[in-house]
Amino acid sequence: MHDNERVSAPSETNAWNHVYSGKVRDLYEPAAGPDDLLLVVASDRVSAFDHVLEPGIPGKGDLLTSLSLWWFDQLREVPNHLVPDHELDAAGVAVSSIPAEFAGRAMLVRKLDMFPVECVVRGYLTGSGWKEYVANRTVCGIPLPDGLRDGDRLPEPLFTPAYKAPLGEHDENISFSRMVELIGEDDAVALKDLSLGIYETASLTAERHGVILADTKFEFGRNPGTGVITLGDEVLTSDSSRYWDRDVYLTSDDPTARMASFDKQIVRNWLAHNWDQDDPSTPTPPTLPAEIVTQTADRYRELLERLTGSGR
Ligand code: ATP
Ligand code: MG
Repeated sequence: MHDNERVSAPSETNAWNHVYSGKVRDLYEPAAGPDDLLLVVASDRVSAFDHVLEPGIPGKGDLLTSLSLWWFDQLREVPNHLVPDHELDAAGVAVSSIPAEFAGRAMLVRKLDMFPVECVVRGYLTGSGWKEYVANRTVCGIPLPDGLRDGDRLPEPLFTPAYKAPLGEHDENISFSRMVELIGEDDAVALKDLSLGIYETASLTAERHGVILADTKFEFGRNPGTGVITLGDEVLTSDSSRYWDRDVYLTSDDPTARMASFDKQIVRNWLAHNWDQDDPSTPTPPTLPAEIVTQTADRYRELLERLTGSGR
């Protein structure tokens, strides 16, 4: 394990109590004081096919947090869950409420009543969408024209929600009418419109930086104080999205190579070739080789540089 890797079990700090760990992020609540705040801390853990892999990707938690914060700022007109993380002490000096051990990879957020739905938007056909298209000519039940190839741009971006399964269970693609049953028509329509709108804005921004936003996933919640539907979770990171190099995509003759990824597709591809997840004799995925870890870290960093212009 690398010295600078942050994949250890979350620690209890004086001011924050650990309340939850997903595969990648750890959530903390204030030990005393307001119960409407959360600290979302991104680790360097990397997951693929619903497994957390070893080792982590050094710097990933920082990179993903920087990317999320940058996108929240780009999408300022959409209400989001960020809370200013500085307050002034008695002497008027700004003090961060984020503990030093989490600095750079934590977001202070308003606790929302999350909708149990992952709001996926696909502008391009690939991944599970491509598999379904091959089998049925549909994506999440939505019929598509014949003759599309893996990686092709869809005639228009599709909203393909998934039910966010309780911990340990797989998320499940659902139809829009199932989403209406789960959360009601008004909220379902609002989340769909917000998701497609944000995707459109973000994909234009990404294209200006030479990157294609092939697909992405948003999570929304309701602010319990104001009732406003609010963008939560991470946003448009390389964990929640597929990003491709625009020049390569437009100039490559090779239908697979044109999807030059800035996301964890590198990890998924390696794993797909080196592990049979359906073989009961190999329940745990193999350790990632050092070059895959380095390549992934480099590509995550390059995406942040391209989008935000900030080098690290
Ligand atoms: P997985 O490992 O499959 O991603 P997960 O989504 O539960 O599982 P993480 O993404 O690591 O795990 O953890 C982030 C969790 O925090 C998610 O469950 C997400 O819905 C939740 N969350 C994000 N923002 C907020 C918020 N503002 N208020 C309440 N919960 C939030
Ligand atoms: Mg998640």
